[in-house]
Amino acid sequence: MTVSDRQTGAAAPETDALGTALAQFDEAAERLGLDEGMRRVLRVCKRELSVNFPVNMDSGEIRVYNGYRVQHNIARGPAKGGLRYSPQVSLDEVRALAMWMTWKTAVANIPFGGAKGGVMVDPRALSMAELEDLTRRYATEISIVIGQAEDIPAPDMGTNPQIMAWIMDTLSMHQGHTVAGVVTGKPIAVGGTLGRLEATGRGILFVIEELCSQRGLHLDEATVAVQGFGNVGSVAALLLQRAGAKVVAVSDHSSAIYDGTGLDIADILHRRSDAQPLASLGKYDTLTNEELLALPVDILVPAALEGQLTRENAGDVRAKYVVEGANGPTTPDADAIFHDRNVYVVPDILANAGGVIVSYFEWVQDLQFYFWEEDEVNERLRKVIGRAYREVAAAAEQGGLTMREAAMTLGVSRVVEATRMRGIYP
Ligand code: NAD
Repeated sequence: MTVSDRQTGAAAPETDALGTALAQFDEAAERLGLDEGMRRVLRVCKRELSVNFPVNMDSGEIRVYNGYRVQHNIARGPAKGGLRYSPQVSLDEVRALAMWMTWKTAVANIPFGGAKGGVMVDPRALSMAELEDLTRRYATEISIVIGQAEDIPAPDMGTNPQIMAWIMDTLSMHQGHTVAGVVTGKPIAVGGTLGRLEATGRGILFVIEELCSQRGLHLDEATVAVQGFGNVGSVAALLLQRAGAKVVAVSDHSSAIYDGTGLDIADILHRRSDAQPLASLGKYDTLTNEELLALPVDILVPAALEGQLTRENAGDVRAKYVVEGANGPTTPDADAIFHDRNVYVVPDILANAGGVIVSYFEWVQDLQFYFWEEDEVNERLRKVIGRAYREVAAAAEQGGLTMREAAMTLGVSRVVEATRMRGIYP
């Protein structure tokens, strides 16, 4: 099956990200009764840039890397979405992630479209100098499509504020003056916002607080397992624990660590250096990632990769609530199994929107050269993500829908409305 077959309507395998994203869109399109033309427009990414570029390695060897920048839709504002550095990056994965960004910014009701980018590379295998050279060359290659009014990248898996600073500097050198708003998730020293580093994890906390008040749960009596201990998972685990929850397990690519009486997340973060696998910390019982997903906890937060909860393991999940920190962790088959088993899923395009919401705040501050206090950032985040949660929950209640169906319906309908208002040019 070719890529264009996939995007224009042929069936896709259920476990890959693009298959999941398209199945979710098709279902929302059906529910909204969208006409064929609108479906055709929204099923494809409007612009896809593929780049192959050389990097001088420390050894003197020249390597060529592949990267992408894909814009799914810009009907509601400039394209917005992260950059992923991972050996698994593919054009289809980036397309799926770009499409989810479009619905996410619409659900959060912030004035952006959706985009994503990535480079096929394991950043942990590079020296700092190699990482900087790769980033600056990739930024140069994609500079023809990004810009503070056009398309604004941010961190995702395998990238961080330092990488955002190099991209901002590279683009600024080309322009001859500093253009801080070309990328978000930057360090504070170069136009980043207070609160951005923790924003996705903090948004997950706010979403779980909304979930608790909606469902009569008490966070200080809840047990939690978190898959993925990076920017999203580690902050979510820390803030949930500080809010009184018992975080019994966390994991990274190596394995999971477990303590039924509750892990001390601050201590783990304090003792662990960046690249150190969790399993090497000693002291804790270890589990596999599969075992973590099946723990009898109240809340499971998948915060690593897409495609983690599938038809094979969804039946083993014993959590009552799944709050998606990662993008696309649940396949449509797993969703159906969760629905049958009364596992309540708070979908990615709502649950992990905290990052892009605070990226929006960063961009606004950069454009105005006026920076806010951290309390103001966090309070505004609580307001925006809390409102999005309540709107989705109300739509789910009224329509007898799952939270994912309600979020997709809301997000897609906002993009459809903007597309109709703008019309098809020319
Ligand atoms: P990260 O690179 O900081 O961390 C990823 C974590 O996942 C690491 O702990 C890594 O060891 C772990 N991991 C990798 N492969 C794994 C596997 N097979 N099994 C278990 N764990 C594995 O990335 P991040 O920024 O925290 O992103 C995590 C997820 O959240 C991604 O799906 C990303 O798209 C999504 N997300 C990120 C942001 C953000 O602001 N960074 C915002 C919204 C959504």
